[in-house]
Amino acid sequence: MIRACSICKRLTEKRECDVCKNKDLSEEWSGIIAVMNPKESKISQKLDIQVPGLYAQYVRKL
Ligand SMILES: [Zn+2]
Repeated sequence: MIRACSICKRLTEKRECDVCKNKDLSEEWSGIIAVMNPKESKISQKLDIQVPGLYAQYVRKL
């Protein structure tokens, strides 16, 4: 089961977010955004993503 962080939207299979260490992860998310180069990507600036990786487009907060 892949979950999405409710704060930064990072996708992870672990029980906490790799980026912000948040433990509030949601199983209800949709859309995958692959961020390779956060500093040059407009979408990552918009979402405030600093670390490369996979992120959800929408995360439903529980
Ligand atoms: Zn996070």
